[in-house]
Amino acid sequence: MTRCTDLLDEPTVIIGSGPAALTCAETLRKEGYKSHIIMITKDDTLPYDRKKLSKKMTHDINEYIFRQETFFEKYGIKVWLNTTVTKIDVEKKTVYCNDGKPITYSNLVLAMGSTNKIFKLPGSNLEGIYYLRDYHDAEVLYSQIKRKHVTIVGSGFEGLEICSTIDDIASSVTLLARSSHPLKYLGAGLGKEINQVL
Ligand SMILES: Cc1cc2nc3c(=O)[nH]c(=O)nc-3n(C[C@H](O)[C@H](O)[C@H](O)COP(=O)(O)OP(=O)(O)OC[C@H]3O[C@@H](n4cnc5c(N)ncnc54)[C@H](O)[C@@H]3O)c2cc1C
Repeated sequence: MTRCTDLLDEPTVIIGSGPAALTCAETLRKEGYKSHIIMITKDDTLPYDRKKLSKKMTHDINEYIFRQETFFEKYGIKVWLNTTVTKIDVEKKTVYCNDGKPITYSNLVLAMGSTNKIFKLPGSNLEGIYYLRDYHDAEVLYSQIKRKHVTIVGSGFEGLEICSTIDDIASSVTLLARSSHPLKYLGAGLGKEINQVL
């Protein structure tokens, strides 16, 4: 992989620090890109693998992160943590952040991922309702469910994964599905088999 040796150019700015952002930065270096790369992220941790959140209960971020700090230093990839991009001016090739610091880019990559669906139903603001989207959600969720009766809304992959992950520590786990079987988009056959296992 190439290191950052061109100190004059304006940077390539990548907004986000998920797998898309990290893959982009790494690929640029692998393909010989030598200029500055800055990843700007709302997150307070180095890029980590969200996929693991539903598969393993841990409070150690090191088990989730893709690369150690030394990797980013070695390949000249700056990661601005705790920074939210609030405005992009494509005419001026400038990105504005919540800390008020504008940054001019040569190339801009948007890798901001998606957000989870927020319940807007009567009672959805009550205590004891948790979402699982980021590392901090996982910390809170997994610290709250010991010996509790847990209901999971959603019977896709994530619902099932969380079910299996917390099965040993929750008192009971109930999965709510809109269809007659989980993973409905994979067909009734597999869903029925899973129903039997559950
Ligand atoms: C619990 C869980 C389990 C999953 N399991 C699987 C699985 O088994 N298999 C699978 O294929 N997929 C799985 N996924 C989905 C997978 O994690 C996502 O598809 C993947 O993370 C998307 O990567 P991304 O880089 O596009 O975006 P994300 O990982 O969502 O990253 C987006 C980044 O952009 C940042 N950002 C957003 N807006 C701004 C802004 N304005 N300023 C600064 N930063 C910003 C965020 O802080 C974040 O760092 C799972 C997701 C979750 C939550």
